[in-house]
Amino acid sequence: MTGPAPAKSPTAKPMFDKIALIGIGLIGGSIALEARKRGLARSIVAATRSAETAALANRLKLADHCGTDLAAAVKDADLVIVCTPVGACGPATQAIASSLKPGCIVSDVGSVKQTVIADMAPHIPEGVHFVPAHPVAGTENSGPEAALLDLFEGRWTILTPLPGSDAQAVARLEAFWKALGSLVEKIDPADHDRILAITSHLPHLIAYTIVGTADDLAGHLNSEVLRFAAGGFRDFTRIAASDPTMWRDVFMNNREAVLEVLQRFQEDLFYLQRAIRWGEGDKLFELFTRTREIRRALIHLNQA
Ligand code: NAP
Repeated sequence: MTGPAPAKSPTAKPMFDKIALIGIGLIGGSIALEARKRGLARSIVAATRSAETAALANRLKLADHCGTDLAAAVKDADLVIVCTPVGACGPATQAIASSLKPGCIVSDVGSVKQTVIADMAPHIPEGVHFVPAHPVAGTENSGPEAALLDLFEGRWTILTPLPGSDAQAVARLEAFWKALGSLVEKIDPADHDRILAITSHLPHLIAYTIVGTADDLAGHLNSEVLRFAAGGFRDFTRIAASDPTMWRDVFMNNREAVLEVLQRFQEDLFYLQRAIRWGEGDKLFELFTRTREIRRALIHLNQA
């Protein structure tokens, strides 16, 4: 994927009068911080489900204001980004639908695209432009306190416009993500879900499994397992600390693509199991050499 260098300095004129963020955790909060720093909107308003999260977002001054009335937040907004877990995107869009300004852009940041599109699209009123998106950037932390500046710097944001998407709206959203520091690529939603199944969803599933297996196996050795946790296991515990709601929703919504790569993965795991059983070290060596090259190529592409 290629893309021009992201904008670095605040734009002279705000790109939008009002941005509304529905959900203000790691991703919504980071968009708010970055958009304010770069002067991309005259006002940034947020709304979330719980009063506790809204109060925390207000204390941290992530947006100009955060409340719990989703419909009120989107009133007069030119850009609305739904930043909730994937399973809540449809209901959240339904809640804001009748308050959306004609001509505004509605987007999302969901880690799965096909089901999010199927859940959101039916609620988008005539004259409102729906442009789905997914910033491929994040951490294992969640909630407003996890919001970070520079989270999107040099990372990809994937837009998955629909066949009838308004070209101008797509171009404005692309410019917005570039102004946040992101590189932008447009991909078909089904391809997005297949790519993310192998690059993100399966690795998380493996991390959750390994940490769970170690915990089950450890028994009375539990504290020793944690005490002597070496690099590999420690890295997996970081990934396995990711938000349970977000990741439950990802697996419930990208079922087919994840099951497909999981099947392939299990076959490859059996291949290694067999090689270990029969002492076929050359097979292990050949694979480990190949995978080391992949890591080096990734570092070369500056995405590691
Ligand atoms: P997060 O930190 O847990 O924040 C989620 C936000 O959504 C919170 O403000 C939460 O509010 C709100 N929310 C939850 N259910 C809601 C509902 N039914 N109605 C309204 N608001 C609701 O999650 P996140 O990590 O920012 O992830 C948000 C989205 O970004 C997800 O779709 C995820 O797939 C995607 N994404 C995540 C990452 C990552 O690394 N984390 C990376 C790229 C994309 P309350 O606290 O009030 O419930």
